Order: sequence, then structure tokens, then C-alpha cells
Amino acid sequence: MVKKLMYIAGEWRESADMAWLETNSPSTGDLLAEVPRGKAQDIDRAVQAARTCFESQEWQQFIPAERGRILHKIAAALRDDAEAIALLETQDTGKPLTQGRKDVEAAAQYFEYYAGMADKIFGETIPVQPGILDYTLREPIGVTAHIVPWNYPLQIIARSTAAAIATGNVVVAKPAEDTPLTALKLAEIIDRTALPKGVFNVVTGFGFEAGAALCEHPGIDHITFTGSVQTGSGVMAAAAKNVKPVTLELGGKSPNILFEDCDQQEALEWVTRSIIQNAGQTCSAGSRLLIHRSIKEDFLKKLAEKLTAITIGKGEDDAELGPILNAKQYERIESFMETAREEGAAFLAGGKREDRQDLSGGYFFQPTIIDGLSPDSYVAQEEIFAPVVATFAFDTEEEAVRLANGTEYGLVAGVWTKDGARAHRVASKIRAGQVFINNYGAGGGVQMPFGGYKKSGFGREKGLEALRNYTVLKNVALKY
Ligand code: NAD
Repeated sequence: MVKKLMYIAGEWRESADMAWLETNSPSTGDLLAEVPRGKAQDIDRAVQAARTCFESQEWQQFIPAERGRILHKIAAALRDDAEAIALLETQDTGKPLTQGRKDVEAAAQYFEYYAGMADKIFGETIPVQPGILDYTLREPIGVTAHIVPWNYPLQIIARSTAAAIATGNVVVAKPAEDTPLTALKLAEIIDRTALPKGVFNVVTGFGFEAGAALCEHPGIDHITFTGSVQTGSGVMAAAAKNVKPVTLELGGKSPNILFEDCDQQEALEWVTRSIIQNAGQTCSAGSRLLIHRSIKEDFLKKLAEKLTAITIGKGEDDAELGPILNAKQYERIESFMETAREEGAAFLAGGKREDRQDLSGGYFFQPTIIDGLSPDSYVAQEEIFAPVVATFAFDTEEEAVRLANGTEYGLVAGVWTKDGARAHRVASKIRAGQVFINNYGAGGGVQMPFGGYKKSGFGREKGLEALRNYTVLKNVALKY
């Protein structure tokens, strides 16, 4: 049995009460490892270690450019060991190996991108009146908490912790209970660098134990949470008790909007990828398809053919579509399918589990197209987190925008048209944090600010915008 330890104050530790939790392969159901089941006492230890480090002379005097150099080394170490780390991510999440490789590269890019910013966090001078020198300082906020979901564990822990460390903060991260392994691998890499012990801490454990304890801890200064709306709302309530700021990256029900003049072949590729990637278990999955009525039937026929031909298999075998995370997620999907049937949906592809004998160890779900739902039905409104796309027809641009904005989410949208004016007009009316025109990125590159409108959350990660989460502005006025 492989037992992994968590990382607090530069030491590898069991949990205080020696409890463990298991992480299994979504592809086969096999036990991969046991990790400590951290609880409030472990969180307290990690937060105190982080605080001590933050206030130490060593960290306070640490030269920003040196932080940057170390972050570059972390990026290089991720790339040096990319194949092994990708395989570990694939085993833990079930995602196809190709996707695992992309995730490792994205993680390296986060460290690289923010490495370059470490010594470029500027304040301003502000003209007030003669005899007063007024300036601002952008200071690190302190001990930052990072709560990470199971779908892109390495990418997401990298995206927020790289920005936090670059700006001079210290970190306590809690990976998801289902996929803790690459966070511990990242801790191994960081352990080999010259970052002071206590800058980076990882506590493994369940959300309702370790996660809740972290959010409620008075010793943290900021929480970055990525996960579901329901948990995010609870995290915000816990933070409110201690008046701590939060950045919330929550779910989505993102539309691809296809106008009649779009490049259908190009759109077909991206629409497919946007719902197949990570078996649809992606916050920014293109889970709604809004199509001009004149091209709908033809396009859906092509989409059904394409989705039916998608190869399904274990992550390690690198098919195009891997498994659903676990039985709980699968049952949730099944219940959505049941509701869709009750709501009168037509299934143009998929709709059920892939029952191949060699895949019986995991929960594999066929790529699915649902048509005929009312746009305000439950299945059309709620995030399913599966390779399931719901389709709707529109006749006018106004109707397309109304449908696109017609859910409580607002994370990403794709607009497909050759009419440049229309593309920008529609983009301006969409209430979502990222709009892609004639392409679609699940969150896009590391440089693009990413975050939600409405219940998809608030605050922005990625790009330079993320640096605001991890700095606090001080105004200094000097009379001379
Ligand atoms: P989740 O909310 O169940 O869990 C997310 C994290 O929160 C996990 O680490 C979990 O252990 C922890 N957690 C659970 N209960 C907690 C509590 N009471 N207090 C503190 N932490 C707690 O979400 P999930 O199922 O892991 O992820 C799926 C969801 O995440 C989807 O809704 C998806 O859209 C969203 N997501 C959003 C983004 C984004 O960037 N917007 C990215 C990935 C996933």
C-alpha cells in the first residue's frame, strides 16, 4: 500500500490523529494511494507555520527577483518530469494522458508567467498638492488559502499559488479528496527549491473537515476557492465571519452560439472539444449549443456523427474520452438524464453509460446530445459536469443573446460568425467572464483573465488581473 504524506512547514507529515483517506483510479477503481485525512488540528498547524514564515525576517527580506527565479525553477522541474507527472494526474483523475500532459505544461506556464511578475508589482505616485508626496504600495496580503477541485488538480493549484507566491504571500493549499496526488508532487518539487520552509503547505483531507477548517481559520488572510456554487457559497459565509476576502471560481453552463454564416466545419471541431475535454467535467465546458434555426438540423447531424465516433477508454490508454470521476458523479449524471427524459428531451446521441466489458471498473459515459428541452428546464439550466450538450434553436440575434444570458451562470461563451460587427456586438451583450469569437478555450491561456459573472463567481484568476487577489494597497502620504 502506497502511503503519501502531506507537507507542512517543510516537513512530510501524517495527520495529527493518524487518519487516512484513499484515492482511487476513476478508470479502473483500483486503489492508488492513501493520503493523510487532515482535520482542524492539521490546518491549524499549517496556518501557523505559514504565518511564522510570512512574518520571518527571511521572507520579509526575500528579494522579489529571487522569488521569480525560484518560480522559474519550479516551472522547469515540472517540465523535466512532465511525463511522470502527467501519468500521475491521469491515474488520479482518469483524464486522457494527452490532457494530463497539457495540464502539466499549463501548470509550468503559470509558474513561468508569474515568475516574471515577481519584481514588477508597482505602486503609483498620486498628485495631491504641493508639499505632499503621496504614493501607494502593493503589499502581499499574507497567508493565502487555496481550495482546489478534482477536475484539474495540478493546473488549478498552480494557477493560484504561483500568483500568490510571486507577490510575496505564503500558501496553505487543500487539494480535493479524490485527487490529491499531484499537489503532493508539486510540494516535492517546491521542497527542492530555495523557498523558505513554510511558504508552501499542503494539507490533504475532506472538504467538510480540512476544507471547512481552513475557511473558518482566523489566521488566513484570503481564500481562493474553485469548486461548486453550493460549497463556494458556504466558503464565503465562513470567510464573512472573519471578514476575509474570497475569490470564487464556480460552475458554468456555457453556450456556444452558432450564427448561420459561421464556419461550420471549424465550429464542429471546437464544439466537440469543448464538451469532450475531461469528459465534460470542466467548469467552462461548452454545455449549451445555441444554433440558428436554418443550420440546426444539418449541424446536429454532423455533431451526432462526430460524437458517436469518439473513442472511449481509460486515461492511461489515451482515448479521446475518459471516465467520470466516481460513482457519485455518475449517479448525478444519470439523474439528470432521467429528468431530461421526463422533461421530454430527444437524445440525438449517447445518453447512457458505455458498457464495454473492459471498462467495467470505471464509469464511462457516452458523449450525449440532448435536444427539445425548454431553455428554462432544470437540465437546460444546471451544470451536469458530463459530456452532455443541450441544444436550442434561435431565429434572431436578440434571441441568441437572451438564451445565452438565460441561466444563473456566466463563465464563458463562444460566438461563431463571419460578421465582425455582429461578433463584437454579441460579445458586448454576453454576461460572461470570457467570450471567445470563432474559437473556444476552456479558460483560455494563462495570460487571459478568467472568472465569472453571476453565480459563476467573482474575482479574476490568470493574467495580471490575478495579482490583485494577492496584494493589498496601502496609501502613504508624506508632508515635506
Ligand atoms: P466541490 O465544491 O465539491 O469541491 C471543491 C473543493 O472544495 C474540494 O477541495 C473540496 O474538498 C472542498 N470542499 C468541500 N466542502 C467544503 C467545505 N465545506 N468547506 C471548504 N471546502 C470544501 O467541487 P468539485 O466537485 O470538486 O468540483 C466541481 C465544481 O467545481 C464544478 O461546479 C465546477 O464547475 C467547479 N469548477 C470551477 C472552476 C473554475 O475555475 N470556475 C474550475 C474547476 C471546477
